[in-house]
Amino acid sequence: MRVGAISGVLLAVSLATASFAQGPAAKWYPPGTPAADQPSPSRPAAASTPVVLNARIGEHQDRTRFVVEISDPLTMRVFTLTNPNRVVIDMPEVLWRLSGPQKPTGTGAVKSYRYGLFRPGDSRFVIDLNMPVTAAQPMLLPPDGGYGYRIVLDLFPTTQAKFDDAAGWPADLRAREAAAETMASLPPPNPAATPIPSATPSARKIIVLDPGHGGIDSGTTGVDGSMEKDLVLDEGKRLAKLLQRRGYTVHMTRDTDIYIPLRERVNISRGYDADLFISLHADSNPDPGVSGASIYTLSEHGSDSEAAALAKRENQSDIIAGVDLTGQDDSVSHILIDLAQRDTINRSARFAEAAVGTLSLATDILPRTPHRSAGFAVLKAPDVPAVLIELGYLSNIRDCDQMGTDHWRDAVASAIASAVDRHFAPQPAREIGAGPQAAE
Ligand code: ZN
Repeated sequence: MRVGAISGVLLAVSLATASFAQGPAAKWYPPGTPAADQPSPSRPAAASTPVVLNARIGEHQDRTRFVVEISDPLTMRVFTLTNPNRVVIDMPEVLWRLSGPQKPTGTGAVKSYRYGLFRPGDSRFVIDLNMPVTAAQPMLLPPDGGYGYRIVLDLFPTTQAKFDDAAGWPADLRAREAAAETMASLPPPNPAATPIPSATPSARKIIVLDPGHGGIDSGTTGVDGSMEKDLVLDEGKRLAKLLQRRGYTVHMTRDTDIYIPLRERVNISRGYDADLFISLHADSNPDPGVSGASIYTLSEHGSDSEAAALAKRENQSDIIAGVDLTGQDDSVSHILIDLAQRDTINRSARFAEAAVGTLSLATDILPRTPHRSAGFAVLKAPDVPAVLIELGYLSNIRDCDQMGTDHWRDAVASAIASAVDRHFAPQPAREIGAGPQAAE
């Protein structure tokens, strides 16, 4: 992936500054324009929060036209990313009121798109492309003919080489991301973090719960339309409460519907010096008959091809959210050496086995080898034992139905909490130092 080149796809649109005397052309701010001269890229969500009402795709012979209807004029910025090819539209925090967004036919440049909160104050569209394109300057059209304000973005076919040249996060975004990452390695304030004094050893154990996905990345969608990101957030909150009651110190990587980069989730668990990291997910499968929970630990190649494919899907989160992965090292091998040296693999596997045991009493377990391993990016903290739990299959009617009930959610939270208890229970003396990698 090419880095740094911003070129003409870095744009900002503002009705206040656009000149309608020359038609509805948007104002373009060339790279390097001082921030003070540009419209504010974000503002706090308030009563005046703009509402996105509709999004349409027009597939024409020479271009694909993406039209977003909004209640109020707003500033926006468009840039492109490679690997895979995407167009990202950033705007201040908006309310999403799209009624049944139009699906692309697949014949034009737009393969699919999604939208949502990227971080507090920033909303985002991410458009997946079927072909490399040049994104023209977006235009802002005033209300007319029953439509509200419209942002019109034309995408013209181009070559991959030209697309690559233009692609990359704008420099200021990249700088802000780097700053955010530094912050993430420090323990953030978290209302769920109040430790409960207790005489039990669990009081000293720190658990980081990681509800997967969030914000613009909704994860997989259930047969009933429910979203993975909502299910795992609710399950995470239930589990947090239970663990706190049992005396553990609990932190969550997110406790609202917001996107958190995968690496930031790892940084959060390291920042808290966690004793255990539990990532919560739900799976889907083209075969609607596949059902049951499963638990994953980190490995380089995956215990089997299905586990490897799952890790690939779960690792898409940053791509889905429109993150530029330039410079990120995806290889697991050097981390595995670190993991082995610190006995983290053994500890992760031990918790996974405990969780298979307790979960099998509370829900259906994937019949074949429920504890598997693969290269999950979110499990890469070398010093924190970490597992990823797939609670069940949202593509399976029975799983999906039961995952929607309070009864199931409480039972599963209780099962995971019991596994945590079992994991941290004092070990029989004969086991201490017994493993070949037990020395730390
Ligand atoms: Zn997931």
